[in-house]
Amino acid sequence: MIDEDEVDQAAPPGRQRKIIHVDMDAFYASVEQRDNPDLRGKPVAVGGSQERGVVAAASYEARKFGVRSAMPSVTAKRQCPDLIFVKPRFEVYKAVSQQIREIFAEHTPIIEPLSLDEAYLDVTENLQSVPLARDVALAIRSKIKEVTGLNASAGISYNKFLAKLASDYRKPNGQYVIAPEMGPAFVEALPVSKFHGIGPATSAKMNSLGLHTGLDMRNQSLEFMQANFGKAGGYYYWISRGVDNREVRADRIRKSVGAENTFAADLTDFDAMVVELERLIDKVWKYCEGVGNRGRTVTLKVKFNDFEIITRSRSVSLAVSSRSDLGRLSVALLQNEIPVPKPVRLLGLSLSALQHSDDAEPQLVLPM
Ligand SMILES: [Mg+2]
Repeated sequence: MIDEDEVDQAAPPGRQRKIIHVDMDAFYASVEQRDNPDLRGKPVAVGGSQERGVVAAASYEARKFGVRSAMPSVTAKRQCPDLIFVKPRFEVYKAVSQQIREIFAEHTPIIEPLSLDEAYLDVTENLQSVPLARDVALAIRSKIKEVTGLNASAGISYNKFLAKLASDYRKPNGQYVIAPEMGPAFVEALPVSKFHGIGPATSAKMNSLGLHTGLDMRNQSLEFMQANFGKAGGYYYWISRGVDNREVRADRIRKSVGAENTFAADLTDFDAMVVELERLIDKVWKYCEGVGNRGRTVTLKVKFNDFEIITRSRSVSLAVSSRSDLGRLSVALLQNEIPVPKPVRLLGLSLSALQHSDDAEPQLVLPM
């Protein structure tokens, strides 16, 4: 996850660190296959099979048919007629997630979970004093297998950005090290759309500026990157050089993204409030797109002219995956409060239960 307050950290100098990104393989689908032998070796999609359903996770057997997470179930079924749909069991996934975090904690207290099935670990100084981070990763993966019966992949590198890239490189059930001298070359060949933290909108803008790969980005000045991409431009500038000094933050509190606005004059009219709400929806969505995060819980905050505050939330089982979905959910929450009992002084909107949108991206194939 790349937060706005973090982009400043993506600059040298920094001490050499050892960071592992651990990522469970096809997590939800693997848990289902573990718990139900009938599903093993078969194409499985976790998610709703109904007309408006979406795939939350796909087994590797299903991925061979092109089934991907966030794909409409109807499309998935068309691509893979034998696809078996299984209802998600989030309580089970959470329990497994807790087990793997306990395994991480045997090696380091510096654990930054990104979602139920992936985390960054800083093992520079690890609790068992294992000299090589690759051996720590091996130990963690084998313990995960022993305790949960599930496969995990790991990326090992000297910063978060490269560790995350590396964990995709030998998936499933593999690990890969990007040593300091390999970092810049690794990033050079990477298409900008594959950069973690660069969403579709930013990627399209980069392409329109002639930036297609890490090398294209590296050929630009810091000023150029900042002029075109604001604060994030500095982050891109450094990661295109294989440099990322963001800390692994054990105490990460960013679990949501929100925006709010106090009006010049109090509002009572639904249409006028929708106009204001649309601005907040744009803001929240732009952030999500920019950093590649998706959330499952939409919360509307309403402050009245007497300063009373109410909040109304709606959680969906799959991450909100488009601006129009976020808009629809947000406006519906507001509509439920109409007519408002008192004039409205402020509206706020947040999206929480964040996760990464690239959780189930196809394996990266990079020239070495
Ligand atoms: Mg995963």
